[in-house]
Amino acid sequence: MKLIPLPAFVDNYIWMLHDGQHAWVVDPGDAQPVVLALQREGVQLQGILVTHHHPDHTAGVNILRDATGAQVFGPANEPMPEPLRRVHGGDHIHVLGVDFQVLDVPGHTTGHIAYFGTTPGATPLLFCGDTLFSGGCGRLFEGTSAQMQHSLAQLAALPDATRVCCAHEYTLSNLQFARAVEPDNADLMDYSARAHHLRVQGLPTLPSSIGLERQINPFLRCTQPTVAASVCAFDAAAVERDGIFATLRQWKNQYR
Ligand code: ZN
Ligand code: FE
Repeated sequence: MKLIPLPAFVDNYIWMLHDGQHAWVVDPGDAQPVVLALQREGVQLQGILVTHHHPDHTAGVNILRDATGAQVFGPANEPMPEPLRRVHGGDHIHVLGVDFQVLDVPGHTTGHIAYFGTTPGATPLLFCGDTLFSGGCGRLFEGTSAQMQHSLAQLAALPDATRVCCAHEYTLSNLQFARAVEPDNADLMDYSARAHHLRVQGLPTLPSSIGLERQINPFLRCTQPTVAASVCAFDAAAVERDGIFATLRQWKNQYR
């Protein structure tokens, strides 16, 4: 099984999974990179998974479905390019022998879903759209910070080895903010150096892993005393009013 991030637009990734014969893609905001990859890899598109309704994740769906007859799966409660199979938390989808469980992860959008894939004896796989990024998390466009915090806690509880396939290459700018929050986190310093090295070579920093994110992602570390202290130093009144997670998200929104 091959897992390939296809760069799209400025900083999106369309994830492709294929077995040498059949392929699935996640969040094809653009059809063109997918069509080229299908030709290059010599595989046929069998299915499409969508995490949420934003155009940079959906705009290629109709073209690809019409060109290939691929089956499309997407969230139960969001506007979607029809026709598709709508799924919600607890549903299972079988993709090339991998069992994907659907997780409800509201926050970035209210109907956002993620796909957690397991195969006996293989490393688990997570397609999390714009919910969890390496070193960060999605902006709260529709949901509340409480919803996002709960969604991220659900993802953080997945096995450490889980390969985290995020939909954007935001890692370096996220890590810059993460270092402002936790300047003394040695794992974060090591990872920043590795990520920088990858980007200089034009390589993706993804997939990440749940174990790594738990060590370096401030949005998964709000219960750490160092993170709490930093966020309080940023705005103690906001922490009092909205809590640590919401204030951390607010800080990131205005961080330059
Ligand atoms: Zn989005
Ligand atoms: Fe996006």
